[in-house]
Amino acid sequence: MNESESRQRIAANWAAVEDAVRDAMSVAGRGVDEVRVVGVTKYVTADVAAMLVEAGCHELGESRPQQLWEKAEALAQLDAIHWHAIGHLQRNKVRRTLNFRPTIHSIDSLRLLRAIDQEASAQGIEVTALLEVNISGEQAKTGFAPDDLRAALEAYSGDAIRLNGLMAMAGRATSGATAREQFASLRRLRDELESSTGRRLSELSMGMSGDFLEAIAEGATIVRIGSRLFAGILNEP
Ligand SMILES: *Cc1c(COP(=O)(O)O)cnc(C)c1O
Repeated sequence: MNESESRQRIAANWAAVEDAVRDAMSVAGRGVDEVRVVGVTKYVTADVAAMLVEAGCHELGESRPQQLWEKAEALAQLDAIHWHAIGHLQRNKVRRTLNFRPTIHSIDSLRLLRAIDQEASAQGIEVTALLEVNISGEQAKTGFAPDDLRAALEAYSGDAIRLNGLMAMAGRATSGATAREQFASLRRLRDELESSTGRRLSELSMGMSGDFLEAIAEGATIVRIGSRLFAGILNEP
């Protein structure tokens, strides 16, 4: 596939995802501006990611900090990209990551929360972040256990992080129905935490290529979509 074909394919994929999101929001009785689509670029080079931005996606996500730095630097000339750090973040990578002012979806420990707070204070910035929750109970998944969230929220007394929601992934190879139950449980958990801690946790980052329709039905405010945007570009089995 040559460059212009790739560009066309990505534009078509983006339009199809936008349509699907709009339909799902309408079915759920929600306004289309109540959800944001983060285009996850971890499968592709910065050049290909740039095609997605040209197609109209201005929120990009990376799961590995190093890839976020590289792409954010490579795409710095394109206007108005907002980055999302969606994967495990080691504390020694916090400083450099914050340079790009991302929304951080994947705070999975109190130690990381405090490290980000400290660095954000030092840089004199406010960081928007979400707590990652292990809703599937799988060992391999990162994130707070649901029962530990309240204590973490109560233990955080800093003011450099705007902690405004929760992020989760459905378990591996779950059916749509199971994913939907897991997303519903994240929403209920959010509701309980809002009433027990008095904090507003308006963002629910949940739903990927295979389950974003279920996530939207359960109240997702951010969906993180990768492979579907690059279908036809990637070498698929
Ligand atoms: C890779 C990834 C996604 C996107 O997954 P797709 O199934 O390719 O859409 C979303 N969220 C996280 C945390 C990821 O690592």
